[in-house]
Amino acid sequence: MTASFSSGEDSAALVSNRAVVWSPDYLSYRWSADHPMNPTRLELTMSLARSLGILEGVELLRPEAASDADLLRIHTPAYVEAVKQAGHSATSGVLGADAPHGLGTEDNPVFPQMHEASAILAGGSLAAAQEIAAGRTRRAVSIGGGMHHAMPDWASGFCVYNDVAIAVSWLLDNGFDRIAYIDVDAHHGDGVQHAFAHDPRVLTISLHQHPATLWPNTGWSSEVGEGAAEGTAVNLPVLPGTVDALWLRGFHAVVPGALAAFRPQIVISQCGVDSHREDPLADLALTVDGQRAAFLAMRDLADRYAEGRWLAVGGGGYGLVRVVPRAWTHLIAAALDREIDTARAVPADWQERAHALAPSVDLPDTMGDGGEVDYLSWDGPGGTPETGVPSVDRALTRIDSAVIATRRACFPLLGLDPEDPRD
Ligand SMILES: [Zn+2]
Repeated sequence: MTASFSSGEDSAALVSNRAVVWSPDYLSYRWSADHPMNPTRLELTMSLARSLGILEGVELLRPEAASDADLLRIHTPAYVEAVKQAGHSATSGVLGADAPHGLGTEDNPVFPQMHEASAILAGGSLAAAQEIAAGRTRRAVSIGGGMHHAMPDWASGFCVYNDVAIAVSWLLDNGFDRIAYIDVDAHHGDGVQHAFAHDPRVLTISLHQHPATLWPNTGWSSEVGEGAAEGTAVNLPVLPGTVDALWLRGFHAVVPGALAAFRPQIVISQCGVDSHREDPLADLALTVDGQRAAFLAMRDLADRYAEGRWLAVGGGGYGLVRVVPRAWTHLIAAALDREIDTARAVPADWQERAHALAPSVDLPDTMGDGGEVDYLSWDGPGGTPETGVPSVDRALTRIDSAVIATRRACFPLLGLDPEDPRD
């Protein structure tokens, strides 16, 4: 055991088969006072979830830090050593664009104890994977994880250790040989794709803002995996401004088909919420309603194709007060089968707490944004370009072009027909 349970709330009836992974130490992953990735977002998520009662009877799984041996599954010894030294050096902050191992750039400034803070996030995703692998739980969620940009030898895009890649590597050594990873962050899941681009046992799917318009400028539909793993990297780039209904149309035109063909034993979701229309670092136009719909869809796909095994982690998301807490509360609620209606009022006690932390922020009143999540299905009547989507709807035409490119790149390699809407 690398983790211990504690009761989240007083309740006689404990929730079984569902794990929420949480450590107060997650809040020590703090780059700098004015860095966009501020752990306040995690704190406000947990407090909103508690306030709404969805953690009642749920045992919180408190992880330990990932060991060096586990970090070395993905990262180089020189990098892990450099992270340790950086976090214990006298110098912190920005050292320059060419700082060794990416430690000390604008995106990834050196901060005290950065190894310890990063290793606990990795330990959280690993503990979640281990609980599922041992059969102690079917679903586990750790909102501190999802550091999908971290590379073997360098920090990247606010990510130090690639917790998901570490968890996947552990699963591969412990009985799993078909693992599906779905990444819905606004940014391409480049670090996880890189880690398994040559491994046919891992299917990585990423939906993200188009690489011509957003860092890290990868995730083109032509990136399909390499060698024996061709077809097991799937990328659906979508244009800036993509709204819920079009994003969901794209998701459902690509992801279920790929999962059906791959037949995963577990689904791992990176649930970055910087796809929100208010996010300061990206340009997609989803609402909390659309993000919630995506979480529910991934949960249901895990139920359908992976016997319910679902590991969900966080990721990006820089609407620290108005967006992330509501979105990830919906994520936790989805994992616990305690869905919260988007019309439900945001509790007043949470608003007071949020106001104390961020007095200038106009707080949301309800758990949704009134987003439109009904979408035209790819395989429904009138749903495909061939059967009559009006060509005047240029936004629809654009998402359909992206879908067609992705399906043509990957589906034949997965044994699917890109032109058959039922696939
Ligand atoms: Zn992101």
